[in-house]
Amino acid sequence: MGAATSEERQGTLLAEKVWSRSWKDVLSYVGLTASSLEHVWATTRSLKPKLRPTPTSRKVDASGNAEETLPQLISLFLPEFPAWMSEQKQLKILGFVAKGSFGPVLKVLDCTKDTVCAVKVLPKTEVLRRDTLKQCKEEVSIQRQVSHAFIHGIGDSWQGLRHLFIMCSYCSFGDLYMLWKRIGRFEEEPVRQFAAELVSVLSYLHDLGIVHRDVKMENILLDERGHIKLTDFGLSRQLPYGERAYTICGTLQYMAPEVLRGGPYSHSVDWWSLGVLLYSLAVGTFPVSPEKDHLNMLKSVNQSAYEMPEGLSSSLALLLSELLCRNPHQRLRHLYQFESHVFFRGSTFDPILLQKYPVHFVLNVREWEPMTLLESDGFAAFDCDLSGVMLSPVPA
Ligand code: ADP
Ligand code: MG
Repeated sequence: MGAATSEERQGTLLAEKVWSRSWKDVLSYVGLTASSLEHVWATTRSLKPKLRPTPTSRKVDASGNAEETLPQLISLFLPEFPAWMSEQKQLKILGFVAKGSFGPVLKVLDCTKDTVCAVKVLPKTEVLRRDTLKQCKEEVSIQRQVSHAFIHGIGDSWQGLRHLFIMCSYCSFGDLYMLWKRIGRFEEEPVRQFAAELVSVLSYLHDLGIVHRDVKMENILLDERGHIKLTDFGLSRQLPYGERAYTICGTLQYMAPEVLRGGPYSHSVDWWSLGVLLYSLAVGTFPVSPEKDHLNMLKSVNQSAYEMPEGLSSSLALLLSELLCRNPHQRLRHLYQFESHVFFRGSTFDPILLQKYPVHFVLNVREWEPMTLLESDGFAAFDCDLSGVMLSPVPA
């Protein structure tokens, strides 16, 4: 019962995440005005190694001892989002990468290490307004728990007064959606490579009892050798075997029918999403057109015949039809089923072997680096405070 109730509370997560790159939209997410953007800073202020005045309140316990406590808006997000960065960094914002579903993803230079990173910015008010506090903390804690060649690991996470920050290395090749939009239909060989990498990573997550719930092209980054990095664990959750979830969440076009119906559902929803993704890569269009809400989407999904277009090999058509199987119990969902599948004859699911060679198909796409918005608008940097509430832990 408890699980179902908390699932219901998370129902606000239902979102068709819109792809948009308007920096004005993005600014409204971070709470900056156009005039503050116009006040361009050549370099981000360097962070001096001293404590800022820290907003604290005094709490007196029963024996009269006073102790300093952080105000609730800070402690709510602990321990996943400490009030300081794990090590002092000097960060310079290079531009926007994308408008995320909560706030922008920024391209940032870590001047101390001379590395380029991506920082996901989540406005606290937005997190609380959408009742997604638990889910935000889960995103960080799950992504920290996992370690796999095809999962994008996260670095530091911390909070400022108004925002939460999640930092990770920057993938200059962007995501799979950008690649798909650029080249359209994929040949069968790269489909097989991406499929094997995704089967490898989803089997790993499910073995840990984690269901991702938002497998889609935008959440698959590409590394500098063209291999995948699954990211965005913002809807993922621990779902021990035998337990069921009920929240209608994810991205409409990728949602399995049992999710659209409001559950019960389990890990096999990720395999449906994989079917939608592989179909789109191989065919060049989504298997079912988008609808305005989940009820209409469910109707379309139930009515669709999932006809495989001419030109697909029979083995790929078979794989897609077995993933896009409306009955989750009959859907492909175990690693051994993929290992013996005719489409994967001669393939491996071992991440080390899969990574042995670069994916030339990706590397051959020229002029690849997606432009960040500040670069495209001619901005070098702008004012956005990425520092934590405090610059370092309060000394003992
Ligand atoms: P959201 O929960 O808002 O969807 P994501 O983590 O999926 O957030 O990030 C949104 C988009 O930002 C992704 O679809 C991808 O295009 C881009 N992005 C995220 N992380 C990185 C990264 N490390 N390197 C390059 N692009 C990234
Ligand atoms: Mg995403």
